[in-house]
Amino acid sequence: MTRAISTPSRTKEILETYGLRARKNFGQNFLVDPIIVERCAKASHCEGAVIEIGPGIGGLTEMLAKNSKHVTAYEIDENLIPVLHDVLSEYDNVEILLQDFLECDFDAKVKELKETYGSVSVCANLPYYVTTPILFRIFECPDIAYITVMVQKEVGERFAARPGDSEYSALSAEGQYLFDVKKLFTVPGRSFNPSPNVDSVIIQFARKNTSLSKQELTSFFDLVRGCFKQRRKTIYNNLREYLDDAALAKTVLEKAGIEEGRRAQQLSVDELRKIYEELQ
Ligand code: SAM
Repeated sequence: MTRAISTPSRTKEILETYGLRARKNFGQNFLVDPIIVERCAKASHCEGAVIEIGPGIGGLTEMLAKNSKHVTAYEIDENLIPVLHDVLSEYDNVEILLQDFLECDFDAKVKELKETYGSVSVCANLPYYVTTPILFRIFECPDIAYITVMVQKEVGERFAARPGDSEYSALSAEGQYLFDVKKLFTVPGRSFNPSPNVDSVIIQFARKNTSLSKQELTSFFDLVRGCFKQRRKTIYNNLREYLDDAALAKTVLEKAGIEEGRRAQQLSVDELRKIYEELQ
């Protein structure tokens, strides 16, 4: 039986055979822990179709291929494409696309996969330099019910932070408005080749039923960012600046039942939503 791609020895062999080195500019850190790779794939609700961003040399892709009907993987590094075709040749349910994920027509791909396979989830070990833009691109697509991603610990903690925590930010509130966010487990730096200095976490976003349209969502998130703009300032001061109207800021907070002296960092997602509703 062939060893899993994500075993340290097989990864080393693949890198040597193809003369590859992890490219820092693409945020390449290959997972070399088959137990973690398997846990991540199995937790990802990938039974239908699954989309992976950045398959690297295919460690997670292989495990997803074993557990789902179809895998679509977007990889930006052209040097990895022939490698992926070789190492995954025994799986006929894997589609490798040479493309910058941020440039792809994600909605069209999700629609096509949903029609064929019924459900579409996302599972990935994300490149750290574009984690947030990639996640927000996926957040915007309502057909993705589950997103399971490995991110740097600090980023994971920001997404999972609760009101009152020091890491609670606009990012946490926006993510938690759309999803139930759960930290699944920590992945130590030594589980990667090359090993980064920081640990990572696997977080899962499970989509909630929310009522805002795409356009309303954009203006709600814009307001949330305005409320968090200067963390040391009170909600009243941030809102006054955002609205450029002191009287309106006062009235809105009063109607929403939120004391002027509080800070955005202490407000729940529901309270932020109340501010938005009062403004409409
Ligand atoms: N999935 C592999 C694993 O877990 O071992 C590799 C993960 S590595 C952290 C991130 C991967 O994302 C790399 O293969 C990198 O080339 C790729 N990547 C970086 N930026 C990308 C982008 N904008 N679109 C698609 N892939 C990207």
